[in-house]
Amino acid sequence: EASARAAAASADRGGSTIFDKIIAKEIPSTIVYEDEKVLAFKDINPQAPVHVLVIPKYRDALTQLSKAEPRHSEILGNLLYAAKIVAEKEGILDGFRVVINDGPSACQSVYHLHLHVLGGRQMAWPPG
Ligand code: ADP
Repeated sequence: EASARAAAASADRGGSTIFDKIIAKEIPSTIVYEDEKVLAFKDINPQAPVHVLVIPKYRDALTQLSKAEPRHSEILGNLLYAAKIVAEKEGILDGFRVVINDGPSACQSVYHLHLHVLGGRQMAWPPG
């Protein structure tokens, strides 16, 4: 948790991120779902048996949810619907969690909007 906070505090909050390289297939990822607007791939540091990230593919897209404007409403819907498709594909429709970490206080470390889809174990509440 301390390392997540440190990574979040030092995250580059502008420009391209490692997720742009994943979209461009310049660095490898395990893709779970992809369409013209969104990409879903396995988190490299999974926090549950199923941990998939769902991201918008275009650079016009958002760094973080708190920067959303009315024009982003469609992609936000696309991302959430893709999270459901991921849960279905991963066999966790009986119970899963969708998380967005926004900003340093929430330990966001990559400033390319992403949904975490977590499941495959009993989830606790409240989250840390
Ligand atoms: P945090 O790092 O605190 O979880 P975020 O919500 O910004 O903050 O999540 C970024 C996620 O991206 C992390 O779960 C991290 O494991 C994941 N990640 C970073 N690099 C890669 C990569 N190359 N492939 C897959 N997942 C990655």
